[in-house]
Amino acid sequence: MSTETLRIVWIYPDLLSTYGDRGNALILARRAQQRGFPVEVLEVRSDQRLPTTADIYLLGGGEDGPQALGAQRLLADGGLHRAVAQGSVVFGVCAGYQLLGTSFFAKGTQYRGLELLDLSSDRGPSRAVGELAGDIDARLGLPPLTGFENHGGRTHLGPGVSPLARVTAGIGNDGTTEGAWRGKLLGTYSHGPALARNPALADLLLRWATGAQHLPPLDDTWADRLRAERRTAVATSRG
Ligand code: GLN
Repeated sequence: MSTETLRIVWIYPDLLSTYGDRGNALILARRAQQRGFPVEVLEVRSDQRLPTTADIYLLGGGEDGPQALGAQRLLADGGLHRAVAQGSVVFGVCAGYQLLGTSFFAKGTQYRGLELLDLSSDRGPSRAVGELAGDIDARLGLPPLTGFENHGGRTHLGPGVSPLARVTAGIGNDGTTEGAWRGKLLGTYSHGPALARNPALADLLLRWATGAQHLPPLDDTWADRLRAERRTAVATSRG
């Protein structure tokens, strides 16, 4: 952490905020506070400069137009690149995941991404809409991913990143892998919001940001119920 306070930045809520992305900031803040960390959440709109010294940066989902605009503004701003160079954590969801790569398509046009992750996105034959589940990279030590996806893009990973998960339901990147991570940067197609449905993933980001090896467990009864309900729904729809 750069200061005593854990600083979380939600990037461009005016552009990138589908499917309750604010929930990811709320979950991180709450889970950090419950472990005794003072927390500050900053919502930075697309007409504002991005602070470069925060600990965690969140990028949400978005429709094609706002996604393209968000990428252009972030490239022009340069702040996220400086933050990453200083070791900040970045969590991107769907559009926010795609724009961390080298390129993506929006409304039929190819746009330059931020080139922070070795991946690129094109368009698939149809929209991927529905439940998304997968077994997460064993090195991260997390329980299975659960979420909801809605995207037209398909994402192709280069050698510089690892898949976040192997798909067990839904499409994710390409029907086989889902999401990607490198260092303290992690992206996923999982909405839900992702960190409400995957509190262990929230804790991974908090451990990366704080440097803590372990965080005290919290009462996750409600999250566990939600996870069980969604995993049953996935199994039932398959059977
Ligand atoms: N516009 C992107 C796509 O359709 C991302 C959509 C989203 O963030 N839900 O692929």
